[in-house]
Amino acid sequence: MNTLDKTSRLKVALQKSGRLTDNSLDLLVRCGLKYSRGKDQLMCFGENMPLDVLFVRDDDIPDLVQEDVCDLGILGLNVIEEKRLAFQAQGVAPLFDQLMVLDYGKCRLSIAVPDGTEYKDARSLHGKRIATTYPYILGRYLRDNDVAAEVVTLSGSIEIAPRLGRADFICDLVSTGSTLIANHLWEAETILESQAAIITTPVAVSAFKQEWIHRLSMRIDGVQQVKESKYIMLHAPRAKLADIKKLLPGSESPTIVPLDGVSDKVAVHAVCRENVFWETLESLKSAGASSILVLPVEKMLA
Ligand code: ATP
Ligand code: ZN
Repeated sequence: MNTLDKTSRLKVALQKSGRLTDNSLDLLVRCGLKYSRGKDQLMCFGENMPLDVLFVRDDDIPDLVQEDVCDLGILGLNVIEEKRLAFQAQGVAPLFDQLMVLDYGKCRLSIAVPDGTEYKDARSLHGKRIATTYPYILGRYLRDNDVAAEVVTLSGSIEIAPRLGRADFICDLVSTGSTLIANHLWEAETILESQAAIITTPVAVSAFKQEWIHRLSMRIDGVQQVKESKYIMLHAPRAKLADIKKLLPGSESPTIVPLDGVSDKVAVHAVCRENVFWETLESLKSAGASSILVLPVEKMLA
């Protein structure tokens, strides 16, 4: 493995400081990355993988991948989609592919309306001014629904636009909805569901880099799968095996092991890909299982 040659190192763009930063760096660490941080805090250098991290604003990530400065980038689907539409509007083909979606950064782009204002469906937007930082996604939604409305593009603090008289409605990211409530708005319609995702340059990269992109995506799959996974071991009467197997949450085919000197019972070992609750254990016990053990799964490679 050549980890020193700069040209053969993967460059990954992450959000410098924001909602995606900690989860994204943590994901790479769970994939085995050990790193040292550059003095200026703008880069991390992988010590045991040929991978360096560049910290930037999330909005700059599509351009960095587009211009082949970075091979990979982690950012929200909301920004990916907005950039894709923006590039298309400029007649530029988006040069990035979506490699995989990740299990964090979940939020939605929604239309929100001031308390006391009525909203039935997209037609309620007709002739209104809508403030957003996502003019392309909103524009597509309005076109798809045949609605003529004015899109007011702002760069931040969207939620105060109605109070300032700059817009009638807003179109902004929501996760818990508490910001909307604090600003006397209610969520009327979701126009895009979002979560973090990885984009990659479709520009031909070296076989060595390609191999590392593949390894990284396999490891990410593994990391995402083990988060909820548990390894269950129990003893089951042979006669109750079918019932007990049905109760194991999210497991495929469990391993059945004979017990030394006991003919009417077997040991059952299974990886459960869903959370195992106390209620599940109680049902297993009622079905005849005994000696039930639930262990965390640290790593998994399909
Ligand atoms: P930057 O300085 O990098 O431009 P930002 O202000 O655009 O930061 P954040 O607010 O940190 O970005 O959000 C980054 C991403 O996190 C969003 O683009 C979105 O994909 C995701 N996200 C998850 N939940 C929320 C939420 N409630 N509000 C905004 N973004 C959210
Ligand atoms: Zn941003």
